[in-house]
Amino acid sequence: MSEKKKFERPVIKKVQTGMTNKFGTRTEFDPITHIDKVPVKELIEKHGSPLYVVSEQTIRSTYQDLYRAFSTRYPKVQMAWSYKTNYLDAVCRVFHQEGSWAEVVSGFEYDKALANGISGEHIIFNGPDKDEAALEKAITKKSLIHIDHFDELYSIIEIANELNITARVAIRINMDTGIFPQWTRFGFNYDNGEAWEVINRIMLQEKLELIGLHAHIGTYIMSALPYGVAASKLANLAASVEKKFGHNVKYIDLGGGFASKNTLKGAYLSGTDTCPSFDEYAEAITSALVRSEIKPEHLPMLILETGRALIDDAGYILGSVIANKRMPDGKRSMIIDVGVNFLFTSFWYEHKITPAQSFSHHTEDTIIYGPLCMNIDIIREHITLPPLKRGDHVVISRIGAYNMTQWMQFINLRPSIVMIDMDGKAHVIRENETLNTVKQNERIPEHLTDINKK
Ligand SMILES: *Cc1c(COP(=O)(O)O)cnc(C)c1O
Repeated sequence: MSEKKKFERPVIKKVQTGMTNKFGTRTEFDPITHIDKVPVKELIEKHGSPLYVVSEQTIRSTYQDLYRAFSTRYPKVQMAWSYKTNYLDAVCRVFHQEGSWAEVVSGFEYDKALANGISGEHIIFNGPDKDEAALEKAITKKSLIHIDHFDELYSIIEIANELNITARVAIRINMDTGIFPQWTRFGFNYDNGEAWEVINRIMLQEKLELIGLHAHIGTYIMSALPYGVAASKLANLAASVEKKFGHNVKYIDLGGGFASKNTLKGAYLSGTDTCPSFDEYAEAITSALVRSEIKPEHLPMLILETGRALIDDAGYILGSVIANKRMPDGKRSMIIDVGVNFLFTSFWYEHKITPAQSFSHHTEDTIIYGPLCMNIDIIREHITLPPLKRGDHVVISRIGAYNMTQWMQFINLRPSIVMIDMDGKAHVIRENETLNTVKQNERIPEHLTDINKK
């Protein structure tokens, strides 16, 4: 028997101008009922709502696309997975199985990479905050230490001399690549000669081996050209080192920062149309390297620390409608159970949000609120959506980067995360938090054990 059609109240809608681009207002034509062939409804019934979902298939295919774009243009390419982008062990291990090393920016991430079975020599240690204990461990384990500032350089010299072990170091270099804003707070500046200065100091140290040069020019860089500029500046330095010291750096690391297909807030066109392809980035970078002064027999390995562009598409968060409201100004609003505490990137992106069940094609401009008692908890300020009922589900796409690391346990406990494997089987890769998760690290002073006694 076919299901009885739901009655929908007819409404008169004011024509709104100034909100659309030339392609119209419609954002969604079809519901997303399945992820990698697993029904969304079933996932929510089994694991609750909201629920993060990670597609192993999408991780692997995206990785392979990126790797192919570079390895067909350059002889030595090595990926290093950016742990802070998503450091769930299951996610990291998929990247490691594909051949990625680990790129970490704290002692905690360093230990996580070791625990995932990555050997010290395959861990790139970035970031401005590496304490002495972490540096000591990284030097001992022969990791690739990317020096961020002079104070760190001096610490490394001291520790390496004390341990009598040669530290394998690279330097992080910032520079003008023609983009704004320039990230000058990390590393040493190229354009004012600071980078060359520090290279000269490193070359004089017996217990330091300069193995690489690194730049991470920013994030969500929507053009390939700045990467060409960065690659040729790093190649210039490598050629100068070869000329002056007869020393060849083993690698040039272009960091991360490739744009994902997400749409930035206020963007006129969708990110799927504006995001450069992996081939465009690869062309800009590899062409700068092969055209450089570096002798062909000494071409360094090219390392990439791509984060968001590799994982965004593989992540989803599923949610449910809590309520619909008509605002005093007549605008429709919808409250869902996904808040900004679980979807940090909603501060930057207009996430793609799709009903998970069939819908009518009567649509209306809607504001989507999260469930938090906090005014800034807005998931989308404008989205054209059909009416959804309390309990209906939505799928928020392209959320794999940064949301599962920059999340907050605030008001609500963090939900479960499942990974759908290559055969369409869903595995819980992080259990939902419980009251005990929050309480386990708390301690109650003796005089507060009994709340009825002062
Ligand atoms: C965050 C970070 C990355 C990854 O950046 P994406 O923009 O996610 O690609 C790579 N390298 C370093 C040093 C980083 O800090």
